[in-house]
Amino acid sequence: MTAAPYDAIVLGAGAAGLMCAAVAGQRGRRVLLLDHADAIGKKILISGGGRCNFTNIHTAPDRYISANPHFAKSALARYTPADFLALVEAYGIAWHEKTLGQLFCDGSAKQIVAMLMEEAAKGGVTILHGQPVREVAHGADGFGVTFCERRFVAPALVVATGGPSIPKMGATGFAYDLARRFGLKVVEPRPALVPLALGGDDLLFRELSGVAAPVEARAGKAAFREAALFTHRGLSGPAILQVSSYWQRGDPVTIDFLPDAAPGWLVEAKRARPRATLASTLAPLLPARLAQTLADRLALPGELGAQTDRKLVEAETRLKRWAFQPNGTEGFAKAEVTVGGIATAGLSSQTMMAKSVPGLYAVGEAVDVTGWLGGYNFQWAWASGYAAGQAL
Ligand SMILES: Cc1cc2nc3c(=O)[nH]c(=O)nc-3n(C[C@H](O)[C@H](O)[C@H](O)COP(=O)(O)OP(=O)(O)OC[C@H]3O[C@@H](n4cnc5c(N)ncnc54)[C@H](O)[C@@H]3O)c2cc1C
Repeated sequence: MTAAPYDAIVLGAGAAGLMCAAVAGQRGRRVLLLDHADAIGKKILISGGGRCNFTNIHTAPDRYISANPHFAKSALARYTPADFLALVEAYGIAWHEKTLGQLFCDGSAKQIVAMLMEEAAKGGVTILHGQPVREVAHGADGFGVTFCERRFVAPALVVATGGPSIPKMGATGFAYDLARRFGLKVVEPRPALVPLALGGDDLLFRELSGVAAPVEARAGKAAFREAALFTHRGLSGPAILQVSSYWQRGDPVTIDFLPDAAPGWLVEAKRARPRATLASTLAPLLPARLAQTLADRLALPGELGAQTDRKLVEAETRLKRWAFQPNGTEGFAKAEVTVGGIATAGLSSQTMMAKSVPGLYAVGEAVDVTGWLGGYNFQWAWASGYAAGQAL
């Protein structure tokens, strides 16, 4: 029997696959990296508005959603934001912290892809792309993959094909199909970091399309204080994208429009300026169109002085916990990531290898680990890719 020309085949040349292949290659492994897309690292290129929010200095396991919240700990601890930043700096890539610990390139996301390609080249990684991956099989000779009419064989196979968000970028559910074929379980995938669609009574808010305000948005137990944006279809903006990852169909999303207001502020306002209306009281606190719409919907016409304290307290409570009833999300077409994926129960948290299929690994977004908005998802891709790259 001839020796397999590769020690590992990595499927998917995105963030996690590139990192994994480069790390394994630099450890002397012969690595083949395959991708069906016409270009390498497409999601990296469009990320962070073209500047790639490549990590977050506040990375911690509690900023990730997974059926097993402990799973990500090991990999995140062994490859940290400081490790990735050291790589970025070694390549002379200028960066800045934007907000909330989010690190971006000053220049372009292309620099991150070029850096990872260079790292892969240093590891002697062979990269082939632009053709579909066909036929993945597991036999006595290892894992066989057909690509470009050729069959490649290796004792290890890494699934790094990401999740199905943004199919027009080449995203597929390939990882899940493959995992199931090998007997691994998949946690039901759903779109995350995604705008929410409004219907019913909430449709009236569509007239606010384009208006943004700093709020605290809440879905279930998760709460995020960032900007919310009204759109022609519903709600978006960072606060909404964040809660969308926790939102379950049928649940409300509540918004605190005045998170800094002290309890009783509206009754105080009545005492201080009884001739003011609700709309004029809200106007300095919120964008004008939003203040007017909320005042209209609270239906307290006339002067504040004419309202009972009880009605004002009720209005204050509604402004604090305004309940929207989303009728869905804008789906995988608009989702930045996917919640769910290959179940972590079947994988080693140290190496990302499938417990029941020696030699089979899964990394990155394909796995049931999903980060908050703000560089956390790339940090998981780097860390899980590194963990597998070290183990191959
Ligand atoms: C618009 C947008 C902006 C984002 N911005 C950020 C950001 O700034 N910061 C952040 O942390 N995260 C961001 N994300 C999320 C981040 O891009 C992903 O979490 C990350 O890319 C996941 O890495 P991955 O390697 O697992 O998957 P991917 O990077 O998606 O790579 C998967 C690779 O597999 C290939 N592939 C898929 N199916 C097949 C198949 N059947 N055969 C062969 N190859 C296949 C794809 O072509 C792709 O190259 C953003 C996502 C989007 C959509």
